[in-house]
Formats: sequence, structure tokens, C-alpha cells
Amino acid sequence: MSSTELNNIYQKIKKNIRITESEGVFLLKNAHWLDIAKLANNRKIQQIGEKVASYTVFAIINYTNVCDIECSFCSYKKCLSDNSAYVLTKNEIFQKIEYALSQNADQIFFQGGVHPELKIDYYTDIIKSIKERYSIHIRGFSPVEIKNIAKISRLSIANTVQELKMAGLDSVPGAGAEILSDRVRNILSPKKCTTQEWCDILKECHFQGLFGSANIVFGSVETDDEIIRHLDLVRSIQNITGGFNSFIPWTFQQQTKGFKTRLIPSHEYLKILGICRIYLDNIKNIEVSVMVLGEKIGGLALHMGANDISSPVIEENVLRSFGVKDEAAAKALISEAGFDPYRRDFNYESLILQTQ
Ligand code: SF4
Repeated sequence: MSSTELNNIYQKIKKNIRITESEGVFLLKNAHWLDIAKLANNRKIQQIGEKVASYTVFAIINYTNVCDIECSFCSYKKCLSDNSAYVLTKNEIFQKIEYALSQNADQIFFQGGVHPELKIDYYTDIIKSIKERYSIHIRGFSPVEIKNIAKISRLSIANTVQELKMAGLDSVPGAGAEILSDRVRNILSPKKCTTQEWCDILKECHFQGLFGSANIVFGSVETDDEIIRHLDLVRSIQNITGGFNSFIPWTFQQQTKGFKTRLIPSHEYLKILGICRIYLDNIKNIEVSVMVLGEKIGGLALHMGANDISSPVIEENVLRSFGVKDEAAAKALISEAGFDPYRRDFNYESLILQTQ
């Protein structure tokens, strides 16, 4: 290890000079996690402020568990013929929204399996009906879902995105990225969209004004180089579209017997989160997924590059949730970590200080 090379990279970061992909890999392999934490925290203070940390309240609506993609890490998917397979009706979705609104949520996040038969009319009809009845932000549909809707509806990706947007879709998640490496994707989820497709579909969404988040999920067979390549792809898309409001790093959960996760110690997670803050210099908001990582890591991460805890989540079926359960708990977590809790909207434009 060359301490001179490490110090040169640290100096670049302190001067807000963008680091290269090879420097990112060098940091990940060689830097001490506490050095990264300090640099990332300084960057966060410059970009966001010293005392600010935010949260939001949203409900995840898993509209179907039918999926024919077969990701090795997923315990949620069912076959069409399975007894426990479901597709939510409009009324069931309305009930979930009413419950979410009663819990003070202002966003819903549609996330489902990749259903082999639901054409675009199912989605546009539901989105329109929700918008007629409720004042709520609708985020939904990862690139693999959009690719599937386009395929079975015989539409182009651009037309699919356009129809979803015209129906009332407000934003998209950058879900289903896991690791943006075709080598890793071929091992974990060979039937999912490729790295190029994930990037192209999100670019199309951004070009049409559907902004959103991006994530990385690590803790399987990925290498350090592949983690930084993933960040570099996201940074490159952001250079072109400016469509990522936030970035969320989290770790795989052990959900199926056949899928082996790699234990990520807390300091390794925090180091990667800090590198996300430093490397993604064009994405202002870095979220710690309290839902996946839990409250202790959530509080620590706010000192090491994160500015948002995302939770509380009203309902989640795909992942085991360790997150805070309500708004009071979100505020308490942020306050106890030493920050002023702000409730934000989806675009991070409205930040309202919560004092009680
Ligand atoms: S993670 Fe999503 S795409 Fe993969 S099998 Fe599960 S539901 Fe399907």
C-alpha cells in the first residue's frame, strides 16, 4: 500500500476534486474506514449542512408476488399457478392507501414481481384511479418491471414510460440494480435486465421527467472493482440526466437457502456508504437504509456521509424490515444521533423541521 497515493487522493477529496474510478477502487481497498467517515462527513456538511437529517413516511405496495425472473436471493416471488400467488385489486390498493394516509404517509411505492400477463392497462388504470381519489405521490416500477410491461404490451420503452407518466406516475425507483455488473447479474439473477438495459431505462425515465433514486446492494459475490464500477455508472448517468435525487447503499439479506450472503461488518458498510458520498459528488442525498440496516447503523451513518434515513415504511413484504415503525420513532432516532429532524417530500425540496 502506498500512503503517498492515499494521501494524494485524500487531498483531492478535501479540495472537492472528483476522484477517478481507479482512485475509488484504491480507496475501497486501502483506506481506513474512519478516514473515509471523516472525509464523507465533511462533504455532507458542505452539501447539506451540519445539523440537518431528514426522513420521509411512505408505504410500499407490493401489487403482485407473481414473478418469472427467479433471482436467487428472492423469497418473495411466486409462480402464476401457486396457491399463494396474488394480484391486488383496485379496492385492495385503495384500502392500503387509506391506511397509509391515516399513518401520515405522503408517498406510495409500487413494487411487484415481474408478472408475465399484466399489460400496461392494469398499471395505467390503477395509477389514474389513485390520482382521481387521493393526493399522494406515486413512485413505482423498477427497470425490470418497465421492461416487462413494454414487452408484453408490445410497446417501446419510451412509449411505456410515457403512458405511465401520463397516467400520473410521479417518480421511479432505481431498484433492481443490485450490482451493475453483468458477471454478477448472471450469477444472481440471469433473467433480470442487463446492466445496459437498467441504465438505458432509467435514462429514458429521467429524460421524460420521471426522476428517482438509485441503489447498490452488496454482500454477495461482487468485487471491490465492481462496487466502484457500479458507482461510476450511476455518476455517469447523473452527469447526463441529473435525474437521481438520492442514492441508497444497503446489503443483501439471507432470504433463501441457495443464496449465500457475505457478512458485512458495520465498519465495512459505513466505509462503502462514505465512499458513495465522496464518489457520487453529483448526487446530493445519500440515504442509509434503516429498514435494512437497523437503527444503530442508521444513527452512526448520519455522522459518516448520510443525510437521510428514509423510513418509516408502513408496509414491506419483500425484505425483512428492521426500520423505525412511525414518525415519532424516526424523529427520535435522528434527534438521539445529534441532528435536527426534518421531514422531506419525495424531491427533497420541502424540508420541514419537526420539533415535537
Ligand atoms: S427480486 Fe423482484 S425480479 Fe427478482 S425474483 Fe424477486 S420479485 Fe422477481
